[in-house]
Amino acid sequence: MADILDGKALAQTLQTDLAQQIAKIKAAGGRSPGLAVLMVGDNPASAAYVRNKERACEKLGMVSLGKHFPANTTQAELSQVIDELNHDDRVDGILVQLPLPDHLDSVALLNQIHPDKDADGLHPMNLGRLVRGEVGLQSCTPAGVMKLLEEYHIDPRGKHAVVIGRSILVGKPLGLMLLAQDATVTMAHSRTPDLPAVARSADILVAAVGRPNLITADMVKPGAVVIDVGINRITDDGGGRLVGDVDFASVKDVASWITPVPGGVGPMTVTMLMANTVWSYLRRVAG
Ligand code: NAD
Repeated sequence: MADILDGKALAQTLQTDLAQQIAKIKAAGGRSPGLAVLMVGDNPASAAYVRNKERACEKLGMVSLGKHFPANTTQAELSQVIDELNHDDRVDGILVQLPLPDHLDSVALLNQIHPDKDADGLHPMNLGRLVRGEVGLQSCTPAGVMKLLEEYHIDPRGKHAVVIGRSILVGKPLGLMLLAQDATVTMAHSRTPDLPAVARSADILVAAVGRPNLITADMVKPGAVVIDVGINRITDDGGGRLVGDVDFASVKDVASWITPVPGGVGPMTVTMLMANTVWSYLRRVAG
């Protein structure tokens, strides 16, 4: 039976540390770090994520400068807002909640965010820094996965890490982060032949796909560490249960460590967003 990688508990600990850090800054007369989350339209899942982020900001004593726009907002209007936020001294982090409505060019908007305020680590400059192994803002979900591994003393060095999913948001940056810590990394995706065999060769198996029950017990090497990034809403039972990409019930009997959904990677993502904003703040304040 696998041990649980408890993202909820670790997120709580890290958030308490951040709150104390922010309280100290304020007690010394400093301003609070500020995060601006831009949301366009009314996608219910996005709205819930944004609410979570704004709540976390407030709980930690940060300023939340959230902006919600109607679905018909134009590219030019959003571009103007990002420009203003780039120049706004109260703002240390800017995040555009994805996906955006189809008429908007999200890549152009993400590229316009100042790299030093790129709280989601998706700007080409920050992704480039990651490729080069330089210090920079890192994508929150993969950074959260790495933090979980570190907390539980799971050292990727020399291990075979298989990352399933190659998105720019999760899979690709996570592959690079694992590589930077000396794992041997295989990036698998929808065109990978014999995914079960590839998955079974992993010491650290990460699923970042968005398909419930993609990973079953027969795809997991006994003793492997299994990280479930997927978030899938199951509505067939009339409720709105969240499940990951991993069949937790069967895989927990094979793996050595496993993240639950919810309570695994999700809370780490929000926490790393807060940590990124505080990090940007400290760098900007220090000049
Ligand atoms: P995405 O749709 O951009 O990418 C999915 C990837 O999975 C693609 O690279 C695709 O090649 C691969 N894929 C699709 N079908 C496959 C299959 N049958 N076999 C193998 N690979 C397959 O998604 P994303 O933004 O990377 O998100 C992935 C999942 O992670 C989603 O469920 C998303 O909700 C979740 N997510 C969770 C967090 C979190 O905080 N826990 C954060 C971001 C995303």
